[in-house]
Amino acid sequence: MESIKSFTDNNLSFYRTTHYFEQYGEFYTVDQFHEYCNWAKANNTKVYILGNGSNTLFTRKRVKSLVLKNKLHKKITALPGNRLEVSSSTLIIDVLKYCYENSLESFYYLASVPATIGGALAMNAGRGREHQLTIYDFVETINFFDFESNCIKTFAREDIVKGYRETIFTGIQSRLILSATFKFTNLTLKKNPIVERCKWSKTNQDYSAPNCGSVFKKADFDILNKLKGFSFGGAAFSSKTGNWILNTSNSSIPIVILIHFVKILHFMKREIAALEIITVD
Ligand SMILES: Cc1cc2nc3c(=O)[nH]c(=O)nc-3n(C[C@H](O)[C@H](O)[C@H](O)COP(=O)(O)OP(=O)(O)OC[C@H]3O[C@@H](n4cnc5c(N)ncnc54)[C@H](O)[C@@H]3O)c2cc1C
Repeated sequence: MESIKSFTDNNLSFYRTTHYFEQYGEFYTVDQFHEYCNWAKANNTKVYILGNGSNTLFTRKRVKSLVLKNKLHKKITALPGNRLEVSSSTLIIDVLKYCYENSLESFYYLASVPATIGGALAMNAGRGREHQLTIYDFVETINFFDFESNCIKTFAREDIVKGYRETIFTGIQSRLILSATFKFTNLTLKKNPIVERCKWSKTNQDYSAPNCGSVFKKADFDILNKLKGFSFGGAAFSSKTGNWILNTSNSSIPIVILIHFVKILHFMKREIAALEIITVD
């Protein structure tokens, strides 16, 4: 396919590691996405749907997967009854700004998360496990294109969420989220919750180097806390924020090694560490 490009870049993941992307394409319509998937199937190539890359770790110097960047039109459409239809390429912060300007309750705790709506819905993005709050608290339905059955489907949230940071889309590259409808309730806001959340993030989360936020969705926090400040190559566990890897290397190998090290420590303690970030090879 002519539209598939190869190039070297350090901007597709928030870890800012540099890779040679053997196959990269952008889709502006569902038909284009479909065409890329057909090409990938015919060429025995894995597909990776890329939102904003804030939860994506490319593991190899040369990335072989066909990386497909979501360039669908960004759109927020108001529907009756405090409901919104939002396209998957829209950024979280744009939805939150709309909610704030219209005095609506929302997932303001995601204000500092640099994600697309599609990525957040695929990942069941939310607050930490103990808070039991996720973007799905506001979701009514999701529209997605299913490559396997070659049709657009609409599912209600109860058919989508599988668990903490897990949905029927997590790590599955044949279902492209197109849009979602959200329902919000009215709320009187005294302070700007977006500003408040960003202040909280600055105080509590480590932005001193590129990162993808929390690394593991399930882990033994005794192990992770002991690793605070531990570094290898240009990657280090933050000494400020637990379960958070900071990266200054061009290569993703130091991050991969830190992750393996954590998994070995868990194995030795007969515990399980499950990754939150999505790895792509
Ligand atoms: C500073 C920082 C703070 C963060 N804080 C939080 C937090 O508080 N809570 C939290 O949950 N996460 C947090 N994250 C992680 C991350 O932002 C979320 O997982 C987010 O949902 C990823 O969105 P994205 O658009 O960047 O997705 P990407 O990283 O591009 O992709 C993530 C996954 O979603 C899939 N995907 C993306 N778009 C679509 C689509 N349209 N259809 C189907 N699948 C799709 C991808 O294939 C991949 O499997 C943080 C990250 C950073 C950098």
